[in-house]
Amino acid sequence: MARPFEGDEDDFLYWLEHLLAFEGVPIWRRNLRRGEYPVVCPSCAGSLEIDLSYRLQGTRLRDPNARFRVVGREGPILTGVRPAAPANLPPPASRLHGLAVRAGQSAAADHLTHLFGRTTCPDCASEFSVPDQIAVFQA
Ligand SMILES: [Zn+2]
Repeated sequence: MARPFEGDEDDFLYWLEHLLAFEGVPIWRRNLRRGEYPVVCPSCAGSLEIDLSYRLQGTRLRDPNARFRVVGREGPILTGVRPAAPANLPPPASRLHGLAVRAGQSAAADHLTHLFGRTTCPDCASEFSVPDQIAVFQA
């Protein structure tokens, strides 16, 4: 049996980012760790932010003109993020999720199902893929 990964959830996600960077995988080599992800709604083009930090999980409206966000001044979470079923995770998330489960990193595995899940635009109420819109915004 493999030795358990010696580190916390953030260390593990950081390690996965390095793995992807080594393999030349775009987007996710820098976006696996918890945080706030700016996106644009694919239906109404509204500026949104998907927050997958520790305290909050969900989607809020984002001021497209704000260069810096003042801490504590972000808007409220308006819609939730629905996690993907592990069996339905697309690549590379399916493999990353498997690595997290086998390493005993259940919190990281759970985070990956949210990062590759779906959310709803608070403005036009259309549902969209979280990873697809993160990828579009970062491209
Ligand atoms: Zn929308």
